[in-house]
Amino acid sequence: MESMTDIIVVGAGPAGYSAAINAVARGKTVRLLSSSPSYLEKAEQVDNYLGFHQIDGASMMKVFADHALAMGITAETGKVSNIFAMKDQVLVNFSGDILTARTVVMATGVTKTKAVRGEQELLGKGVSYCATCDGMLYRGRKAVVWGQADDAAEEANHLKAIGVQITFITNKERPAGLHLDISFIQGALLEIQGQDKVTGVLFKTPGASGKDTVLETEAVFVLQNSIAPTTLVDGLAVENGYVAVDRHMATNIPGLFAAGDCTGLPLQIAKAVGEGLVAAQSAAKYIDEQKA
Ligand SMILES: Cc1cc2nc3c(=O)[nH]c(=O)nc-3n(C[C@H](O)[C@H](O)[C@H](O)COP(=O)(O)OP(=O)(O)OC[C@H]3O[C@@H](n4cnc5c(N)ncnc54)[C@H](O)[C@@H]3O)c2cc1C
Repeated sequence: MESMTDIIVVGAGPAGYSAAINAVARGKTVRLLSSSPSYLEKAEQVDNYLGFHQIDGASMMKVFADHALAMGITAETGKVSNIFAMKDQVLVNFSGDILTARTVVMATGVTKTKAVRGEQELLGKGVSYCATCDGMLYRGRKAVVWGQADDAAEEANHLKAIGVQITFITNKERPAGLHLDISFIQGALLEIQGQDKVTGVLFKTPGASGKDTVLETEAVFVLQNSIAPTTLVDGLAVENGYVAVDRHMATNIPGLFAAGDCTGLPLQIAKAVGEGLVAAQSAAKYIDEQKA
């Protein structure tokens, strides 16, 4: 286990970068963790953020990242699959490593993916979001990788290397980096089946002649780029699908704050940056009060 960080920020978009630099400005140690680039990178032109007239999203993100770097912060690439708040610390599962922090700021943006049927019900009963954490449980057994994330091929290769019998399903093309010995199916995952444990998946192959097929499996690794906040944190309160926060960006879970698109409308950079500031300052205050 690593040494305790004051504030772990999850998500390196505008909200996360803002939270991270403001945490440092308050004299706190910070780690900034992010699975993939912010969606802002895709913006052709941003006109409504003060001080930046007609800038493209990728250039704007570079300015944010350079600012953070100048303050000693570099975003670390990897996925957070679970956040678990305890009395005086928060545990963060970061690509299989358990990190500890005094507080966490969630700045994960909007969730772009919907859970498939059966996913929530069978989570922990064969459904996993983390190949590194749970792979060994399925050594010598059959598992499906629902591989929608950018790093899904890499994760599937890891599972194969430790002896899991993988079938890789995705609605995209076969990823270039996927090990040649891994079975590949192009299709859409419709349902994860089973009662108390996973027994199979139902998927549909593409095209007019596409058909629904059941494949037996004991596990399903659901590898998406984003995970719903309520899946990340057990017991997290949400309103209309967004993380519920107060004016201090505190969630219902002590030590856990949230900022940016994940807290709701308007889904805009200026709001994300402002909330990142408030969340970091509230987290810093929370830490100081705990120590007093
Ligand atoms: C095409 C386009 C054009 C836009 N134009 C404008 C505009 O002109 N003006 C404007 O104000 N806004 C615009 N927006 C909206 C703006 O991009 C968002 O409001 C802003 O990016 C929100 O910032 P955020 O930090 O909350 O979330 P995001 O920027 O979405 O960042 C969230 C980060 O969290 C990471 N993450 C998520 N889950 C996990 C996890 N489990 N583990 C680790 N990391 C995780 C993601 O990889 C991502 O890097 C536009 C968006 C798009 C897509």
